[in-house]
Amino acid sequence: MRVNLLGLNRDSMTRFLEEMGQKPYRAGQLMRWIHQYGAADFGSMTDLAKPLRALLMEHATVEVPRLLSEQRSADGTCKWLLELSPGNAIETVFIPEEGRGTLCISSQVGCALACTFCSTGRQGFNRNLTTAEIIGQVWWANRALGRDPKGERIVSNVVFMGMGEPLLNYEAVVDAIDLLLDDHGYGLSRRRVTLSTSGVLPALERLRDRAPVALAVSLHAPDDALRDVLVPINQKYPLQALMASCRHYLERAPRDFVTFEYVMLDGVNDSEASAHALIQCVAAVPCKFNLIPFNPFPNSGYRCSSPETIRHFRDILMQAGYVVTIRKTRGDDIDAACGQLAGQVMDKSRRQERFTVPSP
Ligand code: SAH
Ligand code: SF4
Repeated sequence: MRVNLLGLNRDSMTRFLEEMGQKPYRAGQLMRWIHQYGAADFGSMTDLAKPLRALLMEHATVEVPRLLSEQRSADGTCKWLLELSPGNAIETVFIPEEGRGTLCISSQVGCALACTFCSTGRQGFNRNLTTAEIIGQVWWANRALGRDPKGERIVSNVVFMGMGEPLLNYEAVVDAIDLLLDDHGYGLSRRRVTLSTSGVLPALERLRDRAPVALAVSLHAPDDALRDVLVPINQKYPLQALMASCRHYLERAPRDFVTFEYVMLDGVNDSEASAHALIQCVAAVPCKFNLIPFNPFPNSGYRCSSPETIRHFRDILMQAGYVVTIRKTRGDDIDAACGQLAGQVMDKSRRQERFTVPSP
């Protein structure tokens, strides 16, 4: 079996090279070829000695996911459909904003946590992504988007907010974070990588000590009774424990606040009373809020709150002194909005309709 070098962090790459009798500094060199120049074949790595290239060809590969389609929205949002293995595809979305470009990546095919308002959750769990498959999304986006005229990468931020619960694929995700942060990899600062979790607390504790990046937490409800329903993992790790873990995490985090995500569901969690309860709930945790208009999907049973209700909810939080953003819906015309990622991927007939596969 040849080793896929795309998924090796610096330690693993060094070990791999040492096993082949090579000098450890070659690890950085190889990583730069793969992650910074987007090279996937050893023949093009011209500053490696020929015998080393031959050795690599024999024992290693740089295997990237297969690009099934690319879509570009009128607002600059891009979406790639990548095939991991036959029948398993994931989507990766790029969102350009003033002064930064954010790539939203997936960590699992499906998700086991079954949040009731999430189409990925409704679909159930299929499998974990490998580190190579997680990084493959960043590799493709960088290859497609490149650098700006100043030589800076267009992808300046990465968020684990696509399909899946990253903390339930802990090992692969932290190795991917290593590569995102490594100077020979993608060279991002910790504050430009954000992990979003619904609150898998033991893994959050481990992340704190191993690779603390910026943290977003899917809160969605101000009390345990409602959160038990919307985000069922709350039954295992309820709000009080979640808040304590957030505080503990912040001791090591690159930012001094947690971003609480809160999906706005009409008549479910969007009342004035909910807003006031929310303020009580998070009182002990330095935080910002990101209100996400619910993105509907077939048979979800939920509706999005009205724009007025969302603004009113925001105003209550702001009056209490919080920074609040309302997530703009981006890439609507290509179904790239939150929680919409999963549905069409799994439904092959619709996929044929919706995605134009580029000719080879
Ligand atoms: N599993 C992780 C990360 C992926 S979800 C988590 O839950 O945090 C990224 C964000 O999109 C989460 O806050 C999630 O709750 C939200 N989301 C899921 N389905 C949604 C939908 N239909 N409309 C709006 N936001 C949704
Ligand atoms: Fe999984 Fe996150 Fe969706 Fe919940 S919101 S089902 S944790 S992907």
